[in-house]
Amino acid sequence: MTKTRVDAPWPTLLGLLRGHRLPLCMALLLAALAAVLELVPYVWLCRSVTLLAEGAAAFAFYRLAGWIALALAGKYLLYTLAYYLSHDAAYRILMQTRQLLARRLAWAPLEWLQRHGSGALKKLLMQDVERLEQFIAHHLVEMAAALAAPLLVAAVLLAIDWRLALAALATLPLAIAFQAIAMRGMERRMAEYQEAVGDLNDASVEYLRSMPVMKAFRQDARSFARMRDALARYHALIRGVTRRVVPGWSVFMVLLNANIVFLLPLGLWLLQRQRIDLAQLLLALVLGGGMLKPLFKLMRFQAQIREILDGVARMQPLLAMREPAAVPRVAIGEASLRFDGVCFGYAGAPVLRELSLTVPAGRMTALVGPSGAGKSTLAALLGGLIVPERGSIAVGGVPLAQIGEAQRAGLIAVATQEAFLFRGSLLDNLRLGCPDADESRVRAALRIAQAEAFVDALPEGWHAPVGERGARLSGGERQRIAIARALLADTPILVLDEATAFADSRTERRFYRALREGCPDKTLLVIAHRLYTVRDAAQILVLESGRLVDAGDHAALLQRCRPYREQWRAQEQDDGWAIRAAANPSMEETADA
Ligand code: ADP
Repeated sequence: MTKTRVDAPWPTLLGLLRGHRLPLCMALLLAALAAVLELVPYVWLCRSVTLLAEGAAAFAFYRLAGWIALALAGKYLLYTLAYYLSHDAAYRILMQTRQLLARRLAWAPLEWLQRHGSGALKKLLMQDVERLEQFIAHHLVEMAAALAAPLLVAAVLLAIDWRLALAALATLPLAIAFQAIAMRGMERRMAEYQEAVGDLNDASVEYLRSMPVMKAFRQDARSFARMRDALARYHALIRGVTRRVVPGWSVFMVLLNANIVFLLPLGLWLLQRQRIDLAQLLLALVLGGGMLKPLFKLMRFQAQIREILDGVARMQPLLAMREPAAVPRVAIGEASLRFDGVCFGYAGAPVLRELSLTVPAGRMTALVGPSGAGKSTLAALLGGLIVPERGSIAVGGVPLAQIGEAQRAGLIAVATQEAFLFRGSLLDNLRLGCPDADESRVRAALRIAQAEAFVDALPEGWHAPVGERGARLSGGERQRIAIARALLADTPILVLDEATAFADSRTERRFYRALREGCPDKTLLVIAHRLYTVRDAAQILVLESGRLVDAGDHAALLQRCRPYREQWRAQEQDDGWAIRAAANPSMEETADA
């Protein structure tokens, strides 16, 4: 996903916590109190020295033990409450954030969704949102505790003698300076590291997915270059980061623990001068010596918080999405299509070049051409999945850009080779574009799509569940259901992009015949690889390298258009039987028998 930093991610992150500030502040307060209680045993340890010197009775020691036990119990209780509150808030925030993102996704234009891809959006909704839990439930609480203890100790030392407080903090600026030097340039390295992790993830998924195929072809892991390269890059980066960070990190750790070097001589000097007593000296050494340790945690969180913020930055473009203004419906005359100088390319590589063509209303137009010519790209433009870089597409004379998504969906239905079905029943899938289609309409659509027989043969008929992405159906069956769904949407324009590619030639021919008879007024734009299926089209458009090279009917093109003639002849040779059968229906009947 592109990293469009709309704003700094911190305010966005804090914005997500809005509405949960009270429980979160309570959690922070409880954690800070718990961290303070952690110091009680040390305070009593020092106090015991005074008691010993005073020759206190045994009861005083029992009482001391009692206080320590109470402090431990209190600490346990406070941390439990703090973590309960922070986790409760975290999971509520996670749910709300996912709901919010899902709503924004529904507002996102089709073209935006297509550009970002389902993998990246899934990562956003699942992984990036999940990471917020770490920050809200753990980091916030632990940061409050890690800051509260040193602050309190500094205040205690200040109360004993300001010089002790100064000595206890003396190594902190040095430690921070070393850490800052060690972390110089890490921003860039961390970005590279994140990229390498992303690559490795993608490569691993691809590797695992392709494992059965690789096994079938007796390929071993060494042959999977992408995975190997991603692993090598990841390890090289880790080695580089480790070499860079470890020395600075070690110095940082040592310095945070090194304030005893200043505290001890200063404390002894103050004791000698009777500015403090022995118990105070012990208190300063015991509390002051370890006071900076909790700051390790803050440093450790640094990298994790950066990852969380990167995730928030990825959410920002979606969070910033506004509900699209209702586009007024425009009056569309006839259901014709017109492309005028349309240019489009993927990542700068041009696919459609100055493409101009017309698809007349109420007729069948076929789009043919070699693989890679840009036929599916043209269908994707009509489906609104991509938008032209230049030029315009018009429906009935009205530019597509002026037609709202909802109206366009009611005008143009696109059925593609990758027939996507949702988990649910066949009927749910069929009625997607027309929820109140009655049974007779569903049956008519199934009949045209040549799906009636196989649906009727299912034990549950059209109430049969189809599984995720239509897992329980064959490729051809899925395609036929997708065609029936597109027919039920009852749009005046239907685009079929290799939508019958999995069908055998006989089923394909029956389908086109039924389609012409069942929907005589529909404007059909059919992208077909097998030319014999579209030879009767009113118009055939021949596309090559994103340009229209000719347009006409089959007979005219066969005569004057060399690319068309060559493709036809090649298929005639390959599928000689099928084409002859198409030309001679009596052969089909013989074959049927
Ligand atoms: P056709 O349908 O005629 O076979 P396409 O429209 O699918 O052709 O593809 C045209 C060109 O665009 C091809 O070179 C293909 O590799 C490229 N292409 C198609 N889809 C994408 C995509 N999502 N990203 C990058 N390139 C693509």
